[in-house]
Amino acid sequence: MPMNIAIDGPSGAGKSTLAKRLAKELGILYLDTGAMYRGIAYHVLKKGVDPADAEAVRPLLKGIDMRIEYDPSCGVQQIIINGENVTPFIREHRISFAASTVSKIPEVRLKLVELQRAVAAENDCVLDGRDIGSYVLPDADIKIYLDAKPEIRADRRFKELEEKGQLNGMTPGDVLADVNKRDYQDMHRDFAPLIVADGAKVVDTSGMNADEVVETIKDIIRECK
Ligand code: C5P
Repeated sequence: MPMNIAIDGPSGAGKSTLAKRLAKELGILYLDTGAMYRGIAYHVLKKGVDPADAEAVRPLLKGIDMRIEYDPSCGVQQIIINGENVTPFIREHRISFAASTVSKIPEVRLKLVELQRAVAAENDCVLDGRDIGSYVLPDADIKIYLDAKPEIRADRRFKELEEKGQLNGMTPGDVLADVNKRDYQDMHRDFAPLIVADGAKVVDTSGMNADEVVETIKDIIRECK
């Protein structure tokens, strides 16, 4: 049986940094499930469809062939939709909220969950997202819920957007409002919302740097073995 590590939590808690580092150190796969929802959001927007319009989104799903590949030169996950590598476009700020909105549609989730479970069944891997420990892999070997104070998560997100030159005039207050709005939507959807999964260890990363987070989680993994 492959070993699966589930990392869930709100945006900016440090999930992807941790998941990447763990995967590298343990020599296992990293599946970024948020990138999959971002890929769907990108495709829906490209088709001129409102991500909130479930009636219009549903018929598009049949026409989406999503594949997950890993760049052989650097090992970074790539999202391929109908043969197009959409990875360079899915990190834009406008995609974040669209991904959260489209992810409320159960049919969108079921399509992606099937893919996620297939990857997890075949590979030792770290998966990060919102519902990995609660819905996708309730029997995951290790379940972590990463959290941090909203102001700290927003500050991390602000710096990330600043580095990418994607602030487009947004102030720290605007970014905090966006982060809160997205987390609220992710926590309050009807199907597979963001919750602390049964058996998950909650880790608050507010006062920690990336190294400290990795060490804390490695301790938890050692204790669970
Ligand atoms: O993790 P990331 O910020 O890239 O995720 C984008 C959005 O995708 C989240 O705000 C959330 O709405 C959705 N998502 C989800 N379930 C997951 C991963 C992401 O609903 N497992």
